[in-house]
Amino acid sequence: MSVARSRARHAELVAQITAADTAYYVDDAPTLADADYDALRRELESLEEAHPELRTKESPTQRIGAQQGSGNLSEVRHERPMLSLSNAFSHDEVRAFFAAATKGLGGRPPELVAELKIDGLAISLRYERGVLVRAATRGDGSTGEDVTANVQTIATIPATLAEPIDCEVRGEVYMPKAAFAALNETRAAEELPLYANPRNSAAGSLRQKDPRVTAERKLSFFAYQLFLTPTPPTQSAALQRLRRLGLPTEENARAGLTGESAAEFLEAWQERRHELEYETDGAVLKVDAVADQEELGAIARSPKWAIAYKFPPEQVVARLIAISVEVGRTGYLTPVAEMEPILIAGSTVRRATLHNLDEIRRKDVRVGDYVILQKAGDVIPEIVRSIPERRAKRLTEFEMPTACPACAGPVSRDEVRHRCANARCPAQAFERLRHAVGRGALDLEGVGEKLLAQLVERKRVARLADLFTLTPQDLDGLDRMGTIASNEKKGGANRIDNVLDEIRRRREQHLWRVIVALGIRHIGETTARDIAGELERRVPPSQSGDWGTQVEEALRGLSVADLTAISGVGAIVAESVVDYFKQPATAGALRELLDVGVRLTPGDGAPAPAVGGPLAGELVVVTGVLVESGWSRREAQDRIRAAGGQIADAVSTKTTLLVAGEKAGGKRAAAEKLGIRVIDERALLALVEGMASGG
Ligand code: NAD
Repeated sequence: MSVARSRARHAELVAQITAADTAYYVDDAPTLADADYDALRRELESLEEAHPELRTKESPTQRIGAQQGSGNLSEVRHERPMLSLSNAFSHDEVRAFFAAATKGLGGRPPELVAELKIDGLAISLRYERGVLVRAATRGDGSTGEDVTANVQTIATIPATLAEPIDCEVRGEVYMPKAAFAALNETRAAEELPLYANPRNSAAGSLRQKDPRVTAERKLSFFAYQLFLTPTPPTQSAALQRLRRLGLPTEENARAGLTGESAAEFLEAWQERRHELEYETDGAVLKVDAVADQEELGAIARSPKWAIAYKFPPEQVVARLIAISVEVGRTGYLTPVAEMEPILIAGSTVRRATLHNLDEIRRKDVRVGDYVILQKAGDVIPEIVRSIPERRAKRLTEFEMPTACPACAGPVSRDEVRHRCANARCPAQAFERLRHAVGRGALDLEGVGEKLLAQLVERKRVARLADLFTLTPQDLDGLDRMGTIASNEKKGGANRIDNVLDEIRRRREQHLWRVIVALGIRHIGETTARDIAGELERRVPPSQSGDWGTQVEEALRGLSVADLTAISGVGAIVAESVVDYFKQPATAGALRELLDVGVRLTPGDGAPAPAVGGPLAGELVVVTGVLVESGWSRREAQDRIRAAGGQIADAVSTKTTLLVAGEKAGGKRAAAEKLGIRVIDERALLALVEGMASGG
């Protein structure tokens, strides 16, 4: 390549990589697949090797992360730089790393430690006299973002260590696969953009201004580096010390490896990684002895004593047999690829979302095609593209339906998505109901998808309020319900009674849950709690009169300005609330619920009431198993909130009370060390029930 062409290509690559870095590190929403990004980086590296004059200090090959933070969080300067790692994409490159290290040590092959590379984000934790005082992200390696408050909500990060020492711990904050799948499911229901993979969702969840959001996200942590004087002599000793201090480390790390046995480790885990509950995108090989590490040193952005081997993304070829179209809760139509069942990354896949028509065109996917399928973050099946070369005959391009597949109503297009505008569309009604009975809303466990579908089909349930007027006759003979006659003959509890009992019990609902259940666009649990908190301030529950009616009126009367004044509520959400109460099809939904006997209760999620409540002003952590009450952790937390307390997931210096059930372990020890009051379940019951009987 001529010098001028190389220079132009260099500039192009730098621009592309810089833009991708901002999307990835700042917005937590990548615009490229990792493999494509890595290919760009590789090209840049080899270009700079051939033309060293192009390698400036600003080149992405010389720096770490993105150049700027999000601006949401305050900055922290790292005492020691937080470096990245050099990557290896083949066993040859791993061998080259080992050879270079051996050479660097004067011909002595080093002993290696292999650790799985957990796909999350690096975090630095500063402990002083054993107490967590600061947590920061890596940022550009020298300056990161202060995420202390957020990190304190992560249950697996101890607030105090087993020894009162000063040290810095580094490790990876990650989101387990199950939590990632659940989070995206909720986001889909709320029509929020989905996270591309567990790594980005972990980063997005940690880099929040509001630690309450982080607390809901079920993040976890593995430690892999310890700075302490005196320094442990090896990386493997450091891992052991971390564990003794009470920090979790990834259990599959192996020490005492040679170049050869390290290769076997990589080989084995390439297959086995799908068994893990967390995402790993490779393995990190580290020279074990610290003296050897120091001798080898570092280059600009990575140490020379470690390398990250990236597992190749697992891709398979699948056959597309149909594209079906699903109607969502708010009318959006989503095309879904239906495939012949195929095994990938440990599970059988039949369907994958195609998002919208533009995506289908971009990937050139047609019914009958062979397509490349991969799992984003090992969890969500994703079609990468079609393989047009394998098309036996001409296949027609897919078109979105012009009539709604559920109600035959007209379909309109807003920018990239198609939408059924009929608010009475049965598919939308069904999705709204499904959302409303879900765990994060009314939590009607017995009213599953199958039962709902039958009730809707029989026209017994059309609106949410209809659920609360069901009679045994309505359930008579439905699938898995049995009949009234056969149930009577058998005697004892039966499904029909169970379902109706549950619905009866669930008439009393926390305000925020009902707000979620209304199915207002963009309103999920956090926003619903924020709005409920504001309503409870405006209409104090202690006031005499019908609180439900007053709250309903207050909610319907909130203007966009009132709503945006609530912290956590933005303009889009505010408009969506106002619009909901303007639409004739939805405006009366809450009133209807009240009319059929649903009672709203305050608390649970609203900031603690300023006065009253036996636990007002307390920041409470619940740990261990609650035997006496039989409450789940969540129920206990609900009661504590209702008693005026606030909940935290992890013990910190701000915690004022720890409720320790049976088998309470690390958190209890941490609380005792910090001198926090610890009570048992019985004492909690007395406090909370005392309130119930005392009014
Ligand atoms: P990296 O992810 O390749 O490796 C360094 C990181 O690995 C560390 O900072 C740490 O967070 C992590 N890690 C996990 N387990 C570890 C262990 N046991 N020991 C040490 N570190 C461990 O480097 P990076 O600079 O964080 O990110 C670069 C990678 O990110 C790229 O290769 C690409 O895959 C991805 N990326 C993608 C895009 C995109 O647009 N798709 C953009 C930027 C970066």
